[in-house]
Amino acid sequence: MTADQQRMEKIVSLCKRRGFIFQASEIYGGLNGAWDYGPLGVELKRNLKDYWWRVMVRERDDVVGMDGAILTHRAVLKASGHEDTFSDPMVDCRTCKARLRADQLPEKSGVKQCPNCGGKDLTEARPFNLMFSTQLGASAEPDAIAYLRPETAQSIFVQFKNVLDVSRKKLPFGIAQIGKAFRNEINPRNYIFRSREFEQMELEYFCRPEQGMELLDYWLAERLRFYENIGLARKNLHVLTVPDADRAFYSKGTYDIEYDFPFGRQELEGVAYRTDYDLTQHQNTSGKPLDYFDEETKQRFVPHVVEPSAGVDRTVLALICEAYDEDTVTDDKGKSETRIVMRFHPRIAPIKAGVFPLLKNQPALVEKARDVQALLRPHMNVFYDETGAIGRRYRRQDEAGTPFGITIDFETLGERAPELRDTVTLRDRDNMKQERVRIVDLLERLANAIA
Ligand code: ATP
Repeated sequence: MTADQQRMEKIVSLCKRRGFIFQASEIYGGLNGAWDYGPLGVELKRNLKDYWWRVMVRERDDVVGMDGAILTHRAVLKASGHEDTFSDPMVDCRTCKARLRADQLPEKSGVKQCPNCGGKDLTEARPFNLMFSTQLGASAEPDAIAYLRPETAQSIFVQFKNVLDVSRKKLPFGIAQIGKAFRNEINPRNYIFRSREFEQMELEYFCRPEQGMELLDYWLAERLRFYENIGLARKNLHVLTVPDADRAFYSKGTYDIEYDFPFGRQELEGVAYRTDYDLTQHQNTSGKPLDYFDEETKQRFVPHVVEPSAGVDRTVLALICEAYDEDTVTDDKGKSETRIVMRFHPRIAPIKAGVFPLLKNQPALVEKARDVQALLRPHMNVFYDETGAIGRRYRRQDEAGTPFGITIDFETLGERAPELRDTVTLRDRDNMKQERVRIVDLLERLANAIA
């Protein structure tokens, strides 16, 4: 096993042990390509989505949000091209019956092989549509087919006119959405990286045709800044300019933002200039106008669009991979041990602070600790823990990636030195340094760190 494979195994095991991610339907053997997020995972994921929403929608004058239905009219995905062309080429291995993606087959001396059994007896490639269809109501008519959306973007295009009318925005402006998408991937793999049910964070940023290429570069830069602001190191992020041959035919330029996962460099987000393709398709197919009237120039035209489209789950995985670290710590008795520490950026860490009374059998300490918990709770996720030695409690929070530990001790009660009354020990997860902080200053101190 390579070092990267070992690292990935440790990450997967920590995620289960600490409650970040579980296999979906685990007690029935698991459902391939679906994952459940546990108590820590759901907080991490929520912090990521909240930060995206904050910088992409709330902190901007030119973007509004929406939340579309997952069930999608067949006509929408017919018009967008998904019904006919949203497919992966698939081959079957005649030897072991595995179903494989034709564009991901390993080759040996120029001959494609089955990655499962090494067999070379493979069928011709056939397109396999990735959309999940479902039946509406009790009718068995073909008209009753609906799809689970394969991307959030199409509901934005279809609602373009309604959102434009109510928001009274002028070009350029964007519509943002976070939500579930479904793709019947042939080979779900690499943990939560490629799954069949996942979440996307998408912005459709509408503009004049002549602004498209410039805005493509603008959004690439913004999105890179976003990833740095949630704690992904710039050196682990890469920009791939998608070559002409691999780009959708309607796109005039596409970048993939990639991340160095332990299993290789893989796409986190696509930033694509999609021209006026989608709105034109829906306008032509529905017969409803989806154009824009420019008051100044008195021109009427279909806007172009630049789309930064990110995966929530892929970003969660990148955050977890980036955060995982092991270091060696020596205790007061000189004994060294390995410490597992998740070095999440405080902004996205699932728990912001652990609150610990030094001893649980001292009611005055417990009461004070509960006060501190109550003080911080409305503003951030804090975790109260009174069981076990204080070192063990710190260690548990290190594994959860909690950036701050707050210990309420006898100094807090003013028993040692009166000037230390109502101060606590604030421990930093990364360097393990401890300092005394007044309880009245705690909230501001922590709020600044997690903003
Ligand atoms: P890939 O080439 O990896 O299949 P894609 O280029 O088809 O991805 P897009 O259609 O551009 O992906 O979707 C935008 C984003 O949605 C991706 O960058 C990714 O973060 C996320 N995404 C797409 N498919 C999946 C999936 N099966 N599981 C998890 N996230 C996904």
